[in-house]
Amino acid sequence: MTTYTPMMQQYLLVKQDYQDAFLFYRLGDFYELFFDDAIKASQILEITLTARGGNTDNPIPMCGVPHHSAQGYIETLVAKGYKVAVCEQTEDPKHAKGVVKREVVQVITPGTITVGKALDGKTNHFIAAAESISQNEIAFSYLDVSTGEAHATILEGDAKELLQQLHTYAIKEVVVTEQLQLVLGDITASSGIVLSLENEEMDANSAKQYIDNIPNALHGVARRLLHYVERTQMRSLSHIQSFTYSEANSYLRIDTNSKRNLELIQSIRGGDSKGTLLWLLDETVTAMGGRKLKQWMHQPLANKGAIEARQAVVTELLEEFFLRDELNELLKKVYDLERLAGRVAFGSVGGRDLAQLRDSLRQVPAIQHKLMDSGREKCVALGRSLDLCEDIEELLSYAITDHPPISIKEGDVIRDGYNEPLDHYRDASRNGKDWIAQLETKERELTGIKNLKIGYNRVFGYYIEITKSHLGNTDLARFERKQTLANAERFITEELKEKEALILNAEEQSLALEYELFVELREKLKGYIPRVQALAAQISELDVLLSFAVVTDKYRFTKPVFHEGRALKIIEGRHPVVEKMLNKQSYVPNDCVLTDDKNMMLITGPNMSGKSTYMRQVALIVVLAQMGCYVPAAEAVLPITDQIFTRIGAADDLAAGQSTFMVEMLESQHAITHATKNSLMLFDEIGRGTSTYDGMSLAQAMMEYIHEEIGANTLFSTHYHELTDLQQELSRLQNVHVSATEQDGRVVFLHKVKKGAADKSYGVHVAELAEMPQAILQRARVLLTQFESNDRVQVTAIDKEPVMPQITAPKHEMTDEDQQLSLFSLNDEPTISPEQQEVLETIGKLNVMGTTPMQAMTLLYELQQKLNSKN
Ligand code: ADP
Repeated sequence: MTTYTPMMQQYLLVKQDYQDAFLFYRLGDFYELFFDDAIKASQILEITLTARGGNTDNPIPMCGVPHHSAQGYIETLVAKGYKVAVCEQTEDPKHAKGVVKREVVQVITPGTITVGKALDGKTNHFIAAAESISQNEIAFSYLDVSTGEAHATILEGDAKELLQQLHTYAIKEVVVTEQLQLVLGDITASSGIVLSLENEEMDANSAKQYIDNIPNALHGVARRLLHYVERTQMRSLSHIQSFTYSEANSYLRIDTNSKRNLELIQSIRGGDSKGTLLWLLDETVTAMGGRKLKQWMHQPLANKGAIEARQAVVTELLEEFFLRDELNELLKKVYDLERLAGRVAFGSVGGRDLAQLRDSLRQVPAIQHKLMDSGREKCVALGRSLDLCEDIEELLSYAITDHPPISIKEGDVIRDGYNEPLDHYRDASRNGKDWIAQLETKERELTGIKNLKIGYNRVFGYYIEITKSHLGNTDLARFERKQTLANAERFITEELKEKEALILNAEEQSLALEYELFVELREKLKGYIPRVQALAAQISELDVLLSFAVVTDKYRFTKPVFHEGRALKIIEGRHPVVEKMLNKQSYVPNDCVLTDDKNMMLITGPNMSGKSTYMRQVALIVVLAQMGCYVPAAEAVLPITDQIFTRIGAADDLAAGQSTFMVEMLESQHAITHATKNSLMLFDEIGRGTSTYDGMSLAQAMMEYIHEEIGANTLFSTHYHELTDLQQELSRLQNVHVSATEQDGRVVFLHKVKKGAADKSYGVHVAELAEMPQAILQRARVLLTQFESNDRVQVTAIDKEPVMPQITAPKHEMTDEDQQLSLFSLNDEPTISPEQQEVLETIGKLNVMGTTPMQAMTLLYELQQKLNSKN
């Protein structure tokens, strides 16, 4: 059996509690890692692997990093999804009996890291917790340790919905119970999300202040998250705000798919935000404002009064050009108050941070002035409501130097005059030489000895030297002999002793005292955190509203008007992002009018004509309007929309094992089961991913269902011209088409939406634009003419796409059984065998995401056996 040294025993004991983290174990000026930690870390960090106890039989693998450069290494590990437990020496080695005491002081994890590259100014850095609360509901909480913001909500759906939510907020770490860990393990691993196990919850009493505003069903998931954050951060959570809960109906809900389809915050192709609505809209000048804008985009409002309140401020700012400009200039000088407050609470705030806090607060009176001086109602009210935090600013101005260094241990952080003893130390070290010279003059006068001098040597320190010739006639009562030389004696006096101590220790003591004062100040500031946070909320809101005004001015937006009904009227609407991308080419504006008796629109037109752009622009205008912003249109009269659903584009989720058509059906199913009459639904090319009959039948059935059962404002685009006949059956349906024209045998897109159905598909022309070989194009034209000359009855949608080979459904009459299995059969109760029922139920309950391909194969085999056993 291996026996370890007492220090290694201590290491192993500490490591036991941090199995899932790299243990950075402080040894003098280094953090050392041992055993497997060392082997793995040396590979990841590319540092040398050595061994401890090299001459024994079982050397221990070891590697280390200097403590002053540890931060970079820790960030690298955390960025790769690992956790780092930092174990410090918690007693002075000089006073230690035996092994120096060591304790883990913080566990840095992907979701809780509050410094470095992981933190982007304009993006929240959330850590989440999730818990299954019923078959189809997940309790979800998330908080940003760096800003203190905390939210909780109930997600409807399964693991996939959770995963989408995590992607939406770019969450890197989720706190879960063992049960959920099993379910989520595989899915999250492949998306680089870390699952952290937490079996305990923060006790109800301590958690009370945080969870008072959220429903009971969410208490567990919030308390679990709090416990995890407290357990890993091991410090004050005083900046964590109470969890907010948004009633589902107080916001315009946009599911994750639709946020992606509409490219609100992330573009469909992923990666950067260029081409998104956020990219267009973000003219914020503070990091806090940037984060708030994102939040508002995630949750536009659904309350007319609240929307109009935002609009009113935008209107004033829009009309006051100079005010807008001046406020923007002032806001640019405001640092990230929320994150600064977070660092104060965390105890990680430095001198420079406090200077930034002070300098930011100094802008607030001017901001208030500008708002009040404008004389505009809303601006004045906003200005009046600002808490200037003058006392905090005064304290910081009094305490902190103009340009403190980053480190709080180098000195020059606390201002002269803040603390008397500190001033003395500083005087001592700065003015040491002057003092000595003054003392020398004074002693010469007192003793009358002109050549008396004060000197210094390293062994004896400071001394007063009197030559032997003067010794006889001097009163030496005050002098204490130190050293005798051939022709002089050296003395020390009480006063010189005092000065000596002061000078020699001054530097050291000044630094130590300065650090002490800084920590004291930091503690004091913790009490002010809620006020700084409240101010940050107001400033960031102002920043976003200013951004709205700037964008409105820049892109010629108009103020939308809301009404209580459901009709929607957009005159000369534009897709702001496409318009911006088009650069100098002009964008063709289009109207969209949905009335109570005609609130469904079927849009036809050739590929590339602008159908999809048109539908998106309607949705974006609704989103912008409910965020409180103006909109890209000449006129907009809008209802309050409760939810937006989209089925747009071919965003294959092949990584998650889903085909385009499956994604299409899942998104449609979600939309149809959740929409209300107050929702906005967009369906782009429904049924495109399957065979013609199949696709067309589905599209028609869905339109009928929406018409009869839901009644939502709906835009449908299709290339199935047959569907345009539906106008005769569905009273609220109107046909429109995006026009194109032929010039010299080529198609020219006009991008203009007009009444009525399109008469041609122009598919061949688009193929021509794509430089399809001439032989194919010619053949296609011939076939097209043939098909078109056939009887209408025989023409199917395949006729409209003669270029592309189609897989058509086998043509047979629909049997009873077919009808029973129809996805959208509404009224008929299925009459199927118990075995079939059981198979269906098993499939229904199956957690596809949590099933491996092998398990799926086995299950499929079993299901088939079950079905066959009946026959
Ligand atoms: P569809 O859905 O009909 O295939 P899209 O909506 O994808 O067509 O539009 C194709 C392209 O046409 C867009 O990328 C855009 O560049 C251009 N476009 C669309 N609508 C307009 C418009 N109203 N004005 C100018 N260009 C437009």
